[in-house]
Amino acid sequence: MTPLSRRYSQFFIPTLKEVPAEAEIISHQLMLRAGMIRKLAAGIYNYLPFGLMALKKVEGIVRQEMDRAGAIEVLLPEVQPGDLWMESGRWDYYGPELLRFRDRHNRESCLGPTHEEVVTDLVRREIHSYKQLPIILYQIQTKFRDEIRPRFGVMRAREFTMKDAYSFDIDEEGANRSYELMYTAYGAIFRRCGLKFRAVEADTGAIGGSFSHEFMVLADTGEDDIVSCQNCPYASNLEKAEVRGDDSKATEAEKELQVVDTPGIKTVDEVTRFLSVGPEKLVKTLIYQTEDGPIAALVRGDHELNETKLKNVLKVQELAMADPETVFEVTGAPMGFAGAIGLKVRKVADFSINQMSNMVMGANEEDKHILNVNEGRDFQVDGYADLRLITPSDPCPRCSGELRFGKGIEVGHIFKLGTKYSKALKATFLDKNGREAPIVMGCYGIGIGRVVAAAIEQSHDENGIIFPISISPFEVTILPLELHEARVRNVAEDLYQHLSDLGVAVFLDDRDERPGFKLKDADLLGIPVRITVSIRTLESNSIEIKLRSRPDLRLAPVDMAPKAIREVVQGLYDSLK
Ligand SMILES: [Zn+2]
Repeated sequence: MTPLSRRYSQFFIPTLKEVPAEAEIISHQLMLRAGMIRKLAAGIYNYLPFGLMALKKVEGIVRQEMDRAGAIEVLLPEVQPGDLWMESGRWDYYGPELLRFRDRHNRESCLGPTHEEVVTDLVRREIHSYKQLPIILYQIQTKFRDEIRPRFGVMRAREFTMKDAYSFDIDEEGANRSYELMYTAYGAIFRRCGLKFRAVEADTGAIGGSFSHEFMVLADTGEDDIVSCQNCPYASNLEKAEVRGDDSKATEAEKELQVVDTPGIKTVDEVTRFLSVGPEKLVKTLIYQTEDGPIAALVRGDHELNETKLKNVLKVQELAMADPETVFEVTGAPMGFAGAIGLKVRKVADFSINQMSNMVMGANEEDKHILNVNEGRDFQVDGYADLRLITPSDPCPRCSGELRFGKGIEVGHIFKLGTKYSKALKATFLDKNGREAPIVMGCYGIGIGRVVAAAIEQSHDENGIIFPISISPFEVTILPLELHEARVRNVAEDLYQHLSDLGVAVFLDDRDERPGFKLKDADLLGIPVRITVSIRTLESNSIEIKLRSRPDLRLAPVDMAPKAIREVVQGLYDSLK
């Protein structure tokens, strides 16, 4: 790697002392304060040199790992013809996030929010035989998505830099191999960027396809709720997290049914308080409307039904809470008194119901509940399934380990696309037997600016950024504290030269400013290794070494300094392996 050393006096880092009012989250504040970015318009940013250098560091790591995985770099245009989007069917589907315009010849055009159409068009023109496959193409390019509410600085900007890769295979098996390759490369990339992250199984959303993983950086300020195991690699969006079913049956002796008056008592809170029972004894009978008619879903009083899971279990397209009329039709009672006994509709129950006995539920009669209800004796369900949101007391569905509930920031997303685009755009190849078949695709994105912002969200303190060394614009910063002292100046200059010659990227704060001012800026910029040279350190013929991530200081003799500093730098890189 070419070392890139700079002097503060001849560089351009306009730092800010005040926290900018426009910035809601810490990475946005710090990127503005450290002179990394400046806003031009809503969701559109200038990258200043210090920000650009961090961006380039991430790009460098991404490029190395993509190349290592066998992906091949291309550069596709940012302006795309509307025709291609009409051919794929996304021109109408994509909505206002796609910035459309007409060129001087009145041709429909757009700014690329993603490049499936363009890359599939390239491949359909150039690739015709199984002998040319598989192939993975990638680029690092500007994207534009006309977000309705851009915010959080470069975290959710309208214009941003993205690495997007696309794999092309002859069959599903090949596509799975490409997906695995990219999954592994993504792990290597984020580890090398110094991030704590998890790969989370995710919904495919608007891009469409059959399978996907999101790579989430664990940070308290993230927008997504995620559940991760403390013990194994399992991680999931909270919404999607599996709750492990338990086959063990209830063991308590069955008691006699008992109807009780519960005037105006409807909610779980009200019922449990009124009857002095815990919510874990209560069953919520929820009536839903679907295209196949109304159904009943049973979950424990202290659990929350997950409608996505219910929809998947029922295999229906439409699912909505039933209106009061439907509830009355189904249960014979107003809302709030539904129970499972005597219901004529399809009943599905969460796994946890199976372990309950002598349950409390609505009596299907106004102002009445019923006690000591038992499945089998008093009602039957049509099936048990995982229907609820996971809770902090649930074990990991893979290893039974303890789960951590937290927030995450999505920095990468990989998808198996199947043949969605290759069929629409007729990207086919001839197989071994001369038969024509659609190419099987995958796509793989990383938000480059997002990685920088997420790293700052994960690693900072009240004084500023704490860069992981691998993505820091510089590796070492040298602060001569008394510039007017010839010896201080000379030792700092020598060290700057010597370290640069050794291949270390050094930032020399050669400004004639007060020591406190320089130290504050050094903390704000977050360069991982700080060297101070001062009258005091030179009294013992030493310089001072401090890591931005640690409070302790140590002295090194001036003549040993370059070697000692280089070892410290190497140690920081080694810790990312
Ligand atoms: Zn686990």
